[in-house]
Amino acid sequence: MVDLFSFEFGRLSAIARNARKSSKRFSSSVDYYRKLDIEYRVSKSFASLTSASTNIDYSSVASDLVSSAIAAYGTEFLSVCVVAGQPEPRMFDALQAFYAELSERPFGSLLSLQKIILQEIGIVGPLQGCECGNQGAIRHFSLENAVLVCESCELTNHSREIGTEAALALIGQDTQEAFSRQAATWLARVLIRQIGKPLKSQQFLKQVLALHQ
Ligand SMILES: [Zn+2]
Repeated sequence: MVDLFSFEFGRLSAIARNARKSSKRFSSSVDYYRKLDIEYRVSKSFASLTSASTNIDYSSVASDLVSSAIAAYGTEFLSVCVVAGQPEPRMFDALQAFYAELSERPFGSLLSLQKIILQEIGIVGPLQGCECGNQGAIRHFSLENAVLVCESCELTNHSREIGTEAALALIGQDTQEAFSRQAATWLARVLIRQIGKPLKSQQFLKQVLALHQ
């Protein structure tokens, strides 16, 4: 059984018989971090993969520990947010961009992916400034509503101080890795609030990052 994320149909589970053995039909391409061209047929209620070949190979993201932990985390982040059979073309493009940019800007690419996913499922808004219209210096974030909050709205929103740099990273105006990392952590907390538990890959990511401080 393989779990695929497709452009046309969103999340898709399919049976890939002998995918590991049959190099003729699958050319050993059914693996993580690959964009595949696939053919499958649907019989009864399940899909069977009949052929697969690699269109783009992103497997180099798994070549070092830090980026492979981030890749696993970003992939799980997407997988818990998508519903089977529902097309998510914007998320599909975002996942590709994430894999393509990961080695160059690991946290920046993770943050971009998280933002698009949470916006597509309607948990996070545009993240441009405070909802009151204040575009000035913003350094508070409301975990409850997943919005940036200005100084004057801060008290009523029960927001947390996240710092100007992390706020600018959330808006997309600061692309420094350290601040993207902080902002990504806040969006991870938004997702945890929604699903009620941390992602499986989160502990691994934490441990790997602790080793590489
Ligand atoms: Zn405000």
